[in-house]
Amino acid sequence: MIDRYAVIGNPISQSKSPLIHATFAKAMNQDLEYGLVEGPLDGFAAAVREFQRSGGRGMNVTAPFKLQAFKLADEKSEGAQLAGAANALKFEADGRILAENFDGIGLTNDIVRNLGVALAGQRVLVLGAGGAVRGLLLPFLAQTPAELVIANRDAGKAAQLAQQLAAHGKVRGGGYADIGAIRFDIVVNATSASLRAELPPVSPEVFAIGGLAYELAYGRGLTPFLRLAQNAGVKRLADGVGMLVEQAAEAFVWWRGVRPQTRALIDQMTIPLQ
Ligand code: NDP
Repeated sequence: MIDRYAVIGNPISQSKSPLIHATFAKAMNQDLEYGLVEGPLDGFAAAVREFQRSGGRGMNVTAPFKLQAFKLADEKSEGAQLAGAANALKFEADGRILAENFDGIGLTNDIVRNLGVALAGQRVLVLGAGGAVRGLLLPFLAQTPAELVIANRDAGKAAQLAQQLAAHGKVRGGGYADIGAIRFDIVVNATSASLRAELPPVSPEVFAIGGLAYELAYGRGLTPFLRLAQNAGVKRLADGVGMLVEQAAEAFVWWRGVRPQTRALIDQMTIPLQ
């Protein structure tokens, strides 16, 4: 029987994961099938178990199920534990479910390898304190930035995250007003504001000229955040398509044991930022 994989979410028809994994499978000569599962909002676990029973080997998990995927798993990686969320599941032959969270490593790989921007020794500002931020903090801190600041509308959430991560590096968190008069080499918009064409309440003065502004949302061209950065003089702008492809590549390695190339696919999927 052919190995089956799928991405589960709700809604799910917009997902690019089938395209990405089909491209990887073809390039790597892997015989597999990758589909879409629309998980019922009140029936995530049952939908996963059903897929597993029908011969599924693994799943990617997207909104709104990342927390439930984490809870369902029998074994969880350190990254998934810290995030309290999983974006990839592997089904073992004995029925156990393993959980991983590759969002943060995907973003880190995109910034460091694809964009050629080091995180080490840099001042990094992350906007937001939701699920995506929880996943990216540990991989970011592993790169030893000079300082990592988390700013969120709900300041308490950012402060709490920073406190949880304190043992892993120099990190602080609070509201937008707590950022301070500092310019950051890398500013990451990990809020969901761009999905509604809104701008997080960040000052244009946080951007260091010569730095990088990274928008986690993708396929939306110049979002209000990227436009703010551009108007502030930032030349290096990126959206989250590279992160999406890189997290998929990590899941592919985890499931199949071979690492696909990502560059051509990222180029093919990139919508110009203008
Ligand atoms: P969550 O819903 O978990 O968190 C949303 C965050 O955005 C919260 O911190 C919230 O602040 C903040 N926020 C929402 N609206 C505004 C606003 N108008 N101004 C300021 N802050 C705002 O979302 P996720 O963490 O799951 O996703 C965040 C973004 O990352 C989305 O755009 C998503 O598409 C993208 N993403 C991209 C991926 C990729 O592969 N490229 C992977 C995963 C996510 P508060 O707590 O104060 O409400």
